[in-house]
Amino acid sequence: MKKCPSCNEDIHDDEIDCPFCDKPLNQPAKKSIKLQYKTTVIVMALITAGPLALPLVWFHPTYKKSTKIIFIVTTTIITILCLYVAKLMFHYMMQQIDMLYQYS
Ligand SMILES: [Zn+2]
Repeated sequence: MKKCPSCNEDIHDDEIDCPFCDKPLNQPAKKSIKLQYKTTVIVMALITAGPLALPLVWFHPTYKKSTKIIFIVTTTIITILCLYVAKLMFHYMMQQIDMLYQYS
Protein backbone atom coordinates (compact mmCIF):
# COMPACT_ATOMS: atom_id res chain seq x y z
CA MET A 1 0.00 0.00 0.00
CA LYS A 2 1.03 3.58 -0.58
CA LYS A 3 -0.50 6.95 -0.10
CA CYS A 4 -1.74 9.22 -2.85
CA PRO A 5 0.35 12.42 -2.81
CA SER A 6 -2.69 14.49 -3.76
CA CYS A 7 -5.54 13.24 -1.56
CA ASN A 8 -3.63 11.09 0.98
CA GLU A 9 -5.87 8.06 0.47
CA ASP A 10 -4.39 4.56 0.82
CA ILE A 11 -4.07 2.87 -2.56
CA HIS A 12 -2.53 -0.30 -4.02
CA ASP A 13 1.07 -0.18 -5.14
CA ASP A 14 0.19 -1.22 -8.69
CA GLU A 15 -2.25 1.58 -9.32
CA ILE A 16 -1.15 4.11 -11.92
CA ASP A 17 -3.84 6.71 -11.28
CA CYS A 18 -5.36 7.36 -7.90
CA PRO A 19 -8.87 5.83 -7.86
CA PHE A 20 -10.05 8.56 -5.52
CA CYS A 21 -8.87 11.74 -7.21
CA ASP A 22 -7.67 10.45 -10.65
CA LYS A 23 -4.27 12.11 -10.27
CA PRO A 24 -1.29 10.19 -11.74
CA LEU A 25 0.82 8.59 -9.01
CA ASN A 26 4.14 8.04 -10.72
CA GLN A 27 5.11 11.67 -10.42
CA PRO A 28 4.87 13.59 -7.16
CA ALA A 29 2.11 16.17 -7.14
CA LYS A 30 4.12 19.05 -8.45
CA LYS A 31 3.44 22.53 -7.27
CA SER A 32 0.82 23.86 -9.64
CA ILE A 33 1.78 27.36 -10.67
CA LYS A 34 -1.04 29.84 -10.37
CA LEU A 35 -2.66 30.92 -13.62
CA GLN A 36 -1.72 34.57 -13.23
CA TYR A 37 1.97 33.61 -12.98
CA LYS A 38 2.14 31.63 -16.23
CA THR A 39 4.45 33.34 -18.71
CA THR A 40 1.92 33.29 -21.54
CA VAL A 41 -0.69 34.89 -19.28
CA ILE A 42 1.81 37.54 -18.18
CA VAL A 43 2.79 38.34 -21.77
CA MET A 44 -0.88 38.59 -22.77
CA ALA A 45 -1.56 40.86 -19.79
CA LEU A 46 1.41 43.07 -20.71
CA ILE A 47 0.18 43.32 -24.30
CA THR A 48 -3.37 44.24 -23.31
CA ALA A 49 -2.84 46.23 -20.12
CA GLY A 50 0.72 47.46 -20.68
CA PRO A 51 2.49 48.74 -17.58
CA LEU A 52 -0.62 48.01 -15.48
CA ALA A 53 0.34 44.32 -15.65
CA LEU A 54 3.85 44.88 -14.32
CA PRO A 55 2.94 43.99 -10.70
CA LEU A 56 2.32 40.43 -11.99
CA VAL A 57 5.95 40.32 -13.10
CA TRP A 58 7.30 41.98 -9.99
CA PHE A 59 5.57 39.63 -7.53
CA HIS A 60 6.29 36.51 -9.58
CA PRO A 61 7.53 33.78 -7.20
CA THR A 62 10.03 32.07 -9.52
CA TYR A 63 11.31 34.73 -11.91
CA LYS A 64 14.86 35.90 -11.34
CA LYS A 65 15.48 39.58 -10.67
CA SER A 66 17.20 39.96 -14.06
CA THR A 67 14.16 38.47 -15.82
CA LYS A 68 11.90 40.90 -13.99
CA ILE A 69 14.08 43.85 -14.98
CA ILE A 70 14.12 42.72 -18.64
CA PHE A 71 10.30 42.49 -18.57
CA ILE A 72 9.96 45.92 -16.99
CA VAL A 73 12.45 47.66 -19.31
CA THR A 74 10.89 46.08 -22.41
CA THR A 75 7.39 47.05 -21.33
CA THR A 76 8.50 50.60 -20.56
CA ILE A 77 10.17 50.99 -23.97
CA ILE A 78 7.14 49.60 -25.80
CA THR A 79 4.82 51.88 -23.80
CA ILE A 80 6.90 54.96 -24.64
CA LEU A 81 6.98 53.98 -28.32
CA CYS A 82 3.21 53.50 -28.33
CA LEU A 83 2.67 56.90 -26.71
CA TYR A 84 5.00 58.50 -29.27
CA VAL A 85 3.18 56.88 -32.18
CA ALA A 86 -0.16 57.91 -30.69
CA LYS A 87 1.07 61.49 -30.43
CA LEU A 88 2.22 61.44 -34.07
CA MET A 89 -1.12 60.04 -35.17
CA PHE A 90 -2.95 62.70 -33.20
CA HIS A 91 -0.92 65.48 -34.85
CA TYR A 92 -1.49 63.97 -38.28
CA MET A 93 -5.21 63.75 -37.63
CA MET A 94 -5.36 67.36 -36.46
CA GLN A 95 -3.52 68.45 -39.63
CA GLN A 96 -6.05 66.60 -41.75
CA ILE A 97 -8.92 68.25 -39.90
CA ASP A 98 -7.32 71.68 -40.34
CA MET A 99 -6.94 71.06 -44.06
CA LEU A 100 -10.56 70.00 -44.30
CA TYR A 101 -11.65 73.26 -42.70
CA GLN A 102 -9.37 75.33 -44.93
CA TYR A 103 -10.82 73.92 -48.10
CA SER A 104 -14.47 74.03 -47.15
ZN1 LIG B 1 -5.67 10.68 -4.75
